[in-house]
Amino acid sequence: MGESQVSAGPQRGTYGPGARIAVLVPLPLAGTYDYRVADGMEVGVGDFVEVPLGRRQIVGVVWGPGGGDVDAGRLRDLSARLPAPPLPEASRAFVEWVAAYTVHAPGSVLRMVMSVPSALMAPRLARVLALEAPAPEIRWTAARRRVVDLLIDGPPRPANELAQEAAVGPSVVAGLVHAGVLRAVELPPPSPDQPDPERFGVRLSPSQAEAAEILRTAVRGGFAVYVLDGVAGSGKTEVYFEAIAETLRLGRQALVLLPEIALGAQWLRRFSDRFGAAPAEWHSDLGVGERRRTWRAVAEGRARVVVGARSALFLPCPELGLIVVDEEHDPSFKQDDGVAYHARDMAVVRARLGQLPAILASATPSLETVVNAQTGRYRLLHLPDRHTRTPPPPVTVVDLRSDRPPTGRYLSPTLRAGLAEAFAKGSQALLFLNRRGYAPLTLCRACGFRVCCPNCTAWLVEHRMIGRLQCHHCGHSLKTPDRCPSCGQDDGLVGCGPGIERIAEEVAEQFPDARYAIATSDTLTGPAAAKLLVQRMEEHQIDLIIGTQIVAKGYHFPLLTLVGIVDADLGLSGGDLRAAERTFQLLSQVAGRAGRADRPGRAIVQTHLPEHPVIAALATGNREAFLAAEAAARQEAWLPPFGRMAALIVAGADEAAVDKAARALAGGAPRIEGVRVWGPAPAPLALLRGRHRRRLLLTAGRAVAVSAVVRRWLRSTPLPRSIHVQIDIDPYNFL
Ligand SMILES: [Zn+2]
Ligand SMILES: [Zn+2]
Repeated sequence: MGESQVSAGPQRGTYGPGARIAVLVPLPLAGTYDYRVADGMEVGVGDFVEVPLGRRQIVGVVWGPGGGDVDAGRLRDLSARLPAPPLPEASRAFVEWVAAYTVHAPGSVLRMVMSVPSALMAPRLARVLALEAPAPEIRWTAARRRVVDLLIDGPPRPANELAQEAAVGPSVVAGLVHAGVLRAVELPPPSPDQPDPERFGVRLSPSQAEAAEILRTAVRGGFAVYVLDGVAGSGKTEVYFEAIAETLRLGRQALVLLPEIALGAQWLRRFSDRFGAAPAEWHSDLGVGERRRTWRAVAEGRARVVVGARSALFLPCPELGLIVVDEEHDPSFKQDDGVAYHARDMAVVRARLGQLPAILASATPSLETVVNAQTGRYRLLHLPDRHTRTPPPPVTVVDLRSDRPPTGRYLSPTLRAGLAEAFAKGSQALLFLNRRGYAPLTLCRACGFRVCCPNCTAWLVEHRMIGRLQCHHCGHSLKTPDRCPSCGQDDGLVGCGPGIERIAEEVAEQFPDARYAIATSDTLTGPAAAKLLVQRMEEHQIDLIIGTQIVAKGYHFPLLTLVGIVDADLGLSGGDLRAAERTFQLLSQVAGRAGRADRPGRAIVQTHLPEHPVIAALATGNREAFLAAEAAARQEAWLPPFGRMAALIVAGADEAAVDKAARALAGGAPRIEGVRVWGPAPAPLALLRGRHRRRLLLTAGRAVAVSAVVRRWLRSTPLPRSIHVQIDIDPYNFL
């Protein structure tokens, strides 16, 4: 007891028995807790350890020497050191950086790193059966022979797999074990296949080769950010694959962030074609076992390339040498719940902390990234279209005020004619509408009642295929009622406005022979479903995809020549400062799906606002002019990326208490030159999942350290425990 005994270990400090150490636990607490290293134990910084906290045991990370003011005599002992590789230094620095920037507790960020607690335990050994040599003499049956043949030709495997593959009952396998022909052995889980950087890649065009060479050099240097800007078909993926290959040659790991990994079937195939092995995948669709194996393989350095959704950024890669953020402009990189962060921005931070390069790839880079490239902070690599024979698809703008669909229908005569022409030529088409379900609003014709969610400020969306009304915010759902819940009128309820299912209904009525598939998050529930859709499109088993933004990116279908955007105005309304930019990015991506290689395509855009700058930019294909106008408007208004923002959402079950807390925060708002606080105002979703919500918005000049200002602001305004304040630095969603 008493004095800490710190002995420097070979690489990171190790602490022997009696030493006082600080442990960070994955809970939203203010900081670290001090513990004493138990007798007979030795730990190092970054080690995962089990500690007592209150009455329970919890796993945390040794963060450094202890320095708290707890009496040495009252320190509690570490319970155990877990058999897992230590959390790398860059990961620890990243946890602290993200916590400070997002104004969340370091423990909350650590929790994202420790997302698979079971991965910290020793990996379970797999019990498999192997052939005993020499095999004892037994009576051979055909069934027994089949089992043994499998093991002669292949690796040892578990009893149930063996029985299944040999098409025998479990008793046959058990009998062979009993007779001493097979013996049980325990094996560690197999290592993932290793991607081979030297495998023959595709032939690069001169401009691709030039960009690839710059990136290969970058991989050997330190921190730098590269923007890979090029339209679909310019071959960005092949170019950053070369950077990944160089990273592998240097013996380091590569991390690729992609939005909506479910869409990655084609990406994964391209990766395997180039490297001869699949990358490790990381997304919400993985089962617990897969997550555990992948987390462990990454932490042990056995997984060399990881591709995943935004949370993959928090995987503890010990030898990270490159981060790629593909589709860097994609809104799915922003997390709004819990620790609110933008994975693209944090990827750049992670790269800086690890002194490694980051590549941001996009066909429609975000304004943030464009401005960073213009000011020289990021280096721009522009890739021209490889297929110079295919110009970008011409865009026809349909003014819905004059080119009107029939009453109660949503496809204009021009779009219908376009579809008919595409089908007649044996081509495929895509109809895009960013709205799931059948109708966004269900209304009573008799009394005007609108069916709303009881927990949220939102209408319930009709999903006719499953006969239910659903809230897209909280998941509340009910069977579509036969009569109006308000006035009781039979058959009084009607669905208003189009959703994907209603467009499908119209297509079926107009083109009864067209084979179509609906692609939304309701139908494409995972990689397997996405893969099947890709396969059906490639084999021309379907003529038409009717989909939401889930189909906007990553797909290449040679026969797809017509893209119809059913309602281009959908994303333009609302107070979101990036509404125009996002709509432009989304619609240009969707339109870009039309026409590849030898089949020229076209896009038909239906709108009520043909003069809107977004629609004009789409029609002319003039991205630069659009971005310049957008940048000028935001610069004038001090909006991001020229100014800074932070949102505070005050939430709680009791509306009066929420109002009072929001007013208290407004009253204590920082009075600093260049900082303004707006609100409180009811959030657009003033009621969400049963909680009342008020918003405050802080705007500031670029030079203001917004995170520190917000942290001081909250500390100086004590609020009751029943009130939750969600802090969102650089907010993207204004709901
Ligand atoms: Zn009614
Ligand atoms: Zn709801």
